[in-house]
Amino acid sequence: SSRPEADSLVGAIDQGTSSTRFLVFNAKTAELISQHQVEINQSFPKEGWVEEDPKEILQSVCECMERTSEKLIQLNINISNVKAIGVTNQRETTVVWDKETGEPLYNAIVWLDLRTQSTVEKLIKKTPGKNKNHLKDKTGLPISTYFSALKLRWLMDNIESVAEAVQTNRAVFGTVDSWLIWCLTGGKNGGVHCTDVTNASRTMLFNIHTMQWDPELCKYFDVPIEILPEVRSSSEIYGYMNSGSLVGVPISGCLGDQSAALVGQMCFKDGQAKNTYGTGCFMLKNTGVKGSVAIAGAVVRWLKENLGIIKSSSDIEKLAATAGTSYGCYFVPAFSGLYAPYWEPSARGIICGLTQFTNSSHLAFAALEAVCFQTREVLDAMNQDSGVPLSQLQVDGGMTANKLLMQLQADILCIPVVRPSMSETTALGAAMAAGAAEGVCVWTINPDGMTSVTSEKYQPKINPDESEFRYTRWKKAVQKAMNWET
Ligand code: ADP
Repeated sequence: SSRPEADSLVGAIDQGTSSTRFLVFNAKTAELISQHQVEINQSFPKEGWVEEDPKEILQSVCECMERTSEKLIQLNINISNVKAIGVTNQRETTVVWDKETGEPLYNAIVWLDLRTQSTVEKLIKKTPGKNKNHLKDKTGLPISTYFSALKLRWLMDNIESVAEAVQTNRAVFGTVDSWLIWCLTGGKNGGVHCTDVTNASRTMLFNIHTMQWDPELCKYFDVPIEILPEVRSSSEIYGYMNSGSLVGVPISGCLGDQSAALVGQMCFKDGQAKNTYGTGCFMLKNTGVKGSVAIAGAVVRWLKENLGIIKSSSDIEKLAATAGTSYGCYFVPAFSGLYAPYWEPSARGIICGLTQFTNSSHLAFAALEAVCFQTREVLDAMNQDSGVPLSQLQVDGGMTANKLLMQLQADILCIPVVRPSMSETTALGAAMAAGAAEGVCVWTINPDGMTSVTSEKYQPKINPDESEFRYTRWKKAVQKAMNWET
């Protein structure tokens, strides 16, 4: 393929749980040129329910693209230099819309949402051996509230307009990538209904061996296969922008956010792994192994919004640093049950080891430590599966701005933690996929050629015995959280 022009640019739509961004990178150096970010509203209609408005999500994407284009023009950059656009998105979040009107039939049910717990219980009851791992061979996943098939089943069972639209062949299903690509490529006037393998693999309807929707899985969840998007690779032209300043630009990359971060962190070698610290924590290893922790940054938000002990998320660093220890206090934020490696939806949060002396700074420290311990549990499970222990962990996400957290993480893992100075690795991964399909990026062939990749390294500083002691205590606290409702 031809050498990229020095001024070729690649865009990335990064649609996350708490916000949407559009970022534009230099196709040759991977330098971030311009970006715009918009917060997303979440609604919590009942305890454990989390919804977002698909139209607000779409509008936030369009707004970010327009504002970024304006910023490029202000920088004297011709927006026709944007040669390709990639999409990366919050995974599992489920949207059903009417393909004739183009309107969503219900709010998006967000990945964290727990409303499908009774759906999960019903399904497990009718499953041979009542085994939650019954579909693991085909999907790699346990039956859990997390995955889109459960959310889609709930919508078909509980929302009349969805059930009716399914019967009359008007309903289509998609994760957020599908919804966005369909809308951006024309919507009801010829929009492309597709998804990529990384997003499809988180629905529980996708067979990870055949790399296709699986008729048996669809039958298990009683989901008509016709409403599912076409599964495509993560790097190819799906369609072209139908409107806006970037009209005509190909959309040629699509990856779930965690897979995109793995690409953006250049984890191309077998056994390399990264951990992303956002609303939740998500560790991915190149072998395809994944580990999800539901509550990471969300615990910081909880201390801010529910306890009021900090005014902004970043205040936690200062507060925790004044203590420098949790003073024997352990905080298991199992607000929505526990994900990897426990998969226990009935677990609930617990704070133990409180004394007369405990104050808000110890709680703040314990909350940060909880993020680190949960990451260690996932890493230990991965190390055990592979037999080869990881020698360092690459990290990214909003929470990695917290240097105390990064040092604590190195201390608790007993391995170095490496954070790239350009922390928008999720968007970079999507841009790389898009640029590769259009032949405008060199980084995918030679990541060392990227001039903008520098990083900070945090070395473990405490004695491994001390680290082990605290980790053992944490595990005791987890046991107390696990059996809470039984
Ligand atoms: P997402 O991709 O899930 O939308 P982000 O990567 O944008 O999430 O990270 C946002 C999360 O990180 C929020 O839950 C917020 O509370 C937390 N967070 C942001 N900055 C800090 C900080 N300096 N220290 C601790 N937590 C932080």
